Amino acid sequence: PKNPLSTPRPPTYPVPVETVALRCNHCGAPLEVGPATRFVTCQFCHSQLAVKQTGSAAYTEVIEQIAATTSQMAGNLKVIELQNELERLDREWTDHRETFYVSGKNGHRSPPSPAGAVIGAVIGIPFLIFWISTATSMGAPAVFPIFGLVVAGFIAYQLFSNFQKAQGMESAKAEYQAQRDRLLRQIADARQGQA
Ligand SMILES: [Zn+2]
Repeated sequence: PKNPLSTPRPPTYPVPVETVALRCNHCGAPLEVGPATRFVTCQFCHSQLAVKQTGSAAYTEVIEQIAATTSQMAGNLKVIELQNELERLDREWTDHRETFYVSGKNGHRSPPSPAGAVIGAVIGIPFLIFWISTATSMGAPAVFPIFGLVVAGFIAYQLFSNFQKAQGMESAKAEYQAQRDRLLRQIADARQGQA
């Protein structure tokens, strides 16, 4: 019987290195790379290639193209970031604007209206002068002319406060619009950079 140990061992070959077959994304030449290779230079056209391995599929990408894609993504992010900033600015202005509103009838708050306050004064003041002088000349109780003066004071206060708030709102609005224009220009620039 044959001693199994004496059986000649089969010749040993070098362990074959597992390779991935690829094609150059630039010239189409076949390439073979190791499974962990990330970058390779094409022997035919000398393109710098990045090896992309996704599950079963493997392909190469010319590195300048990757750089372009990456900068395009950065451009997209910049645009999104600026658009978010624009939305925040608009929201802030909506809130800020209301701080300039004046209380009108029924406590309803509305934008300052100097024109309305002027009309109120033009109609109200002559009437109040008439009211006060008539009450005084007729010897009415003091409460009548005093009431007239209080109403006149209220009209004057409305006029003053409307003008002041309208002025404050105008300058805040101008600032808001300047910021908004600046953001719109930046968004346009970021979009341009992407193209
Ligand atoms: Zn090539």
